[in-house]
Amino acid sequence: MEVIQGKDYSKDLALTTALPEFLVADLLKCPNLPSLPSVAINVLKIARTENPSVSEYANAIERDPALTMRIITLANSAFFSRTHIKVHTCREAAARLGLDATLAAVMSFSLLQNRAVDTHYQRVWMRSIIASLAARHLAIHLCADMAGPVFTAALLQDIGIIALRATYPLESSHLYSEAALSHRQLAESEQRLFGCDHSQVGAWIAAKWGVPTPLAQRICDSHGEYDIAAPDMVCIQLSGPIADAWLSSNPAQSLVTVIREFETYRGTHTISLRHLLENIQQQLPALADMLQMSAPPLQDNESLLAEAQQLLFRQTLQLNARLEMQQAELASLRQRQDELEERSRTDTLTGLANRAWLEVQMQKRFALCQQQSRIMSVVFIDLDHFKKLNDKYGHQMGDQVLEKFGKTLQALIREGDLAGRWGGEEFLIILPDENAKAAHVFAKRIGERLEKIPMGHDGNVPIHVSVSIGIACLDDGGFGSAGELIDAADKSMYFIKRTGRGGIAVYGERGAPITPIDD
Ligand code: GH3
Ligand code: MG
Ligand code: MG
Repeated sequence: MEVIQGKDYSKDLALTTALPEFLVADLLKCPNLPSLPSVAINVLKIARTENPSVSEYANAIERDPALTMRIITLANSAFFSRTHIKVHTCREAAARLGLDATLAAVMSFSLLQNRAVDTHYQRVWMRSIIASLAARHLAIHLCADMAGPVFTAALLQDIGIIALRATYPLESSHLYSEAALSHRQLAESEQRLFGCDHSQVGAWIAAKWGVPTPLAQRICDSHGEYDIAAPDMVCIQLSGPIADAWLSSNPAQSLVTVIREFETYRGTHTISLRHLLENIQQQLPALADMLQMSAPPLQDNESLLAEAQQLLFRQTLQLNARLEMQQAELASLRQRQDELEERSRTDTLTGLANRAWLEVQMQKRFALCQQQSRIMSVVFIDLDHFKKLNDKYGHQMGDQVLEKFGKTLQALIREGDLAGRWGGEEFLIILPDENAKAAHVFAKRIGERLEKIPMGHDGNVPIHVSVSIGIACLDDGGFGSAGELIDAADKSMYFIKRTGRGGIAVYGERGAPITPIDD
């Protein structure tokens, strides 16, 4: 067998990643690298010309009588022949097969010739043969004019495995003996071991032989992601998993993967998987026989598919149940987070906003008012003589009064207002878009409510409290920050404390403090 030394076409390839230098060196050094006889090389040379013809192919093939016989037999097989009319010459055979299938046949025959064909080698080729049948069937439905090149590329897609095995017998014996590995896992292991996977090695070696660049490129992209815009590639990429399912020890489960892959690529929806499998079943024995390989035993595709559908259904149910569980967990986590957030801004005794949240909201609303030229009022409330109340009725009663006062406040505010506990027996209410007059009306309502409703009972004796209230409104001028506005309300409140308690003062109004009051 002649080892080719012709032009190196591998440079025209767009490899996904460059082959590592060590790998190229090792491949070039390898004495058993799959190689082609001169007849095949000549056919490839013709394939590379601009308009290759059937006659040129036939002339080249005829130099090898054994190969010629096999091509003629192939053309007369049920796979390619729809009539009973037999072809007798190589030219007729090549015409019937078409240029691509002739090329594929020449290469497969050549590569399978005189080889120590062990079970792994057989398995790789069987996968390729089944894949080529699947790819051709898909192509006939998806991109009929490319059925030929698709068939050829699918057939040669795993040639890189043969090359890697020949170059690295030791590593390969471990790697490829792991039958449990899926094709994808296999490619990942190759990537780890050799820095690239067999699709790229296959493309490289095919290009070295001189196969047309598009063919080498298709081999290179055979593991790629589906791209609807490239149906020829989808056919090749889907063909691998189909072949894997065919050869799998658990074909139903593997078919589930295929069904899922079919769903990923919507264009294949019109294709019946059952027809595809039947088609492979019909063609496989003849094609395998032609390549002098033993085809896997026939299988009952119908019940296999039914089993796969059931499996898929069960797995989808399980998946949905898992999804629902995860969603429920997520919802409960969100709820818990909401609760925690709510708690982090709430005062536990009164249920109103706590000081931290009041400060955050004050900053936010103050900034909003400045940006949008809006106003807001702040109402500062301090319960009168609360220390005495504690002393007289006890701290617990004091707490109950604070709690009740919180509820009373909450009931008086409107949507959009925010009432909170500033600390101890001090409260603060933010009234967005309200002027001092409106805030005063609101404050008065608090005083009236407290006169009517007791905040606690000592036995039957009602406990009433009074409050001192300070109001500051943003439009009363010159506030540079939220803190200054609160201070102003606080100072107005202190003005009431100083003048006898139980009243309301508005910052900036006559009689109210315009300048700070010393405590
Ligand atoms: P003034 O009319 O001047 O405001 O007098 P006051 O006694 O209300 O004010 P002062 O600031 O002197 O005392 C506030 C009291 O409020 C003292 C403190 O023990 C009490 N207090 C603060 N927080 C709580 C609380 O959570 N529960 C209870 N029961 N009492 C509290
Ligand atoms: Mg106080
Ligand atoms: Mg007080």
